[in-house]
Amino acid sequence: MIRRQIEGRGLHPHAWAFLLGLLCLLGSPGGVRAGPNEIELRGVITHENHETYVEVPFAVPEDTERLTVTFEYDRANRTVIDLGIRDPNGFRGWSGGNRSTFTLASSDATSAYIPGTLPPGEWRLILGVPNIRKGAAASWSARVRLDPKGAPSTGSAFHTGAIRTGPGWYRGDLHTHSGHSDGSCDSLSGRRVPCPVFRTLEAARSAGLDFIALTEHNSTSVYPELRALQAYYDTLLVLPGREITTFQGHANVFGVTSPLPFQLGSPRAPTLDAVLDAVEAEGGLLSINHPGMPSGEACMGCGWVAPIPDCSRIGAVEIANGGGLRLTGSAEGPLSGLPFWESLLDQGCRVTGIAGSDNHDPDAKGGGQSPVGRPATVVYAPELSQPAILEGLRRGRVFVDLGAPAGASVDLTVASGKVRAGMGESLRVRGGAPLRLTATVPGLRDGMVEFVTGGNGKPPTRTPAPIRGLPAVTAELRPAPGLKWVRADVRSPDGRLLLIGNPVYLQN
Ligand SMILES: [Zn+2]
Ligand SMILES: [Zn+2]
Repeated sequence: MIRRQIEGRGLHPHAWAFLLGLLCLLGSPGGVRAGPNEIELRGVITHENHETYVEVPFAVPEDTERLTVTFEYDRANRTVIDLGIRDPNGFRGWSGGNRSTFTLASSDATSAYIPGTLPPGEWRLILGVPNIRKGAAASWSARVRLDPKGAPSTGSAFHTGAIRTGPGWYRGDLHTHSGHSDGSCDSLSGRRVPCPVFRTLEAARSAGLDFIALTEHNSTSVYPELRALQAYYDTLLVLPGREITTFQGHANVFGVTSPLPFQLGSPRAPTLDAVLDAVEAEGGLLSINHPGMPSGEACMGCGWVAPIPDCSRIGAVEIANGGGLRLTGSAEGPLSGLPFWESLLDQGCRVTGIAGSDNHDPDAKGGGQSPVGRPATVVYAPELSQPAILEGLRRGRVFVDLGAPAGASVDLTVASGKVRAGMGESLRVRGGAPLRLTATVPGLRDGMVEFVTGGNGKPPTRTPAPIRGLPAVTAELRPAPGLKWVRADVRSPDGRLLLIGNPVYLQN
């Protein structure tokens, strides 16, 4: 992240912007600082402004990544104020009387506004006044948020606030592609075309998903469309995602809309740390994709071969990928991400296991694609919102659904004496004292829970316990010295893996 100081003044550019904004507004509508990186413009419209345009200047500092305006005014007496904006070089959008808030960034913008870099200097909010009656006076205010590059931005979410409130398990697909990268589908006349992104959202809705991430290869071009579609798909949370696609492996990033370095191994991103620096600065989460895929000429850049300098920075691993499932028919086949994930867990890394369909055709024609939502990632979260789902993924009370009956889930608690821990939490193990494992499996009448343990320098150990029509299965475990993790998976009566739980971490 680069932030230039204003020479000779020593002021942070955003403080400078605030002062300049204030100076520009003296004698005009007025401006006050409304918080970090936020200014408030205020004014009053009277009949003198009827059928005119009032341009309100404010300053945008260098290295601003996103600008978000929230506008309010007194609508009494049929006063109407339209809204638009101009940057130092020209027109950047007009929403008339249709929107009270809009956002612009290099990657995306609210419909009616033009995405692109935000040039520093004097910008102007355009207030059009189609109507204000004689004798009327209408006060207005505009909050202008100016998010600097390389910092978390509340405006990057396509949906602010919660789509659904209340704690629960939320189901989603964290890996999909549309025609903005290499997704394709049949057109109305049956030609193969780059598939429009709404088709993927429609497939997610049909599959009953709560959230979805479009993860185009390196490109950010899908974001303006997703922002517009999110307003219509307001029962489905659309997460900003991207598949950082390198010659040394693929990794999904969630929660970031600004450009990210992807040329791993080049001066732009010499190591994975350079990518992680950018992702973490903006509050995003990185997940290593399909690490068990082959590399080299068999599948260029598919398998994960990049060194991982610090595994504590890896948020998640895609342990099941729809493409791999389709090719091998199993989450445990030769393309499985499970061994890679377990090797990270064995090193003591806390990395959440997740899944994604990697769907490239929402029609999944001829079985050539894994359908959207298969496999799914199911996250326990306090509500259905972008921050809650990302935090839920980090916390690790998460399971992967490979095709279990509807309504089936798995959760795990481990107790040592009176102390208990759940999935994603850690538990101190006292000198080989027995552990009580409880897997809750509502929605499943038969089959098998499999308790899986590892981290003691040996291959993972699997201990099966039958589901006998009860919602919980228990087992007692005498932990081997050095054991680092335990999780609960679920198998069908014929032995197929249906659900993969995340670990409870053991502290020796
Ligand atoms: Zn990939
Ligand atoms: Zn992909």
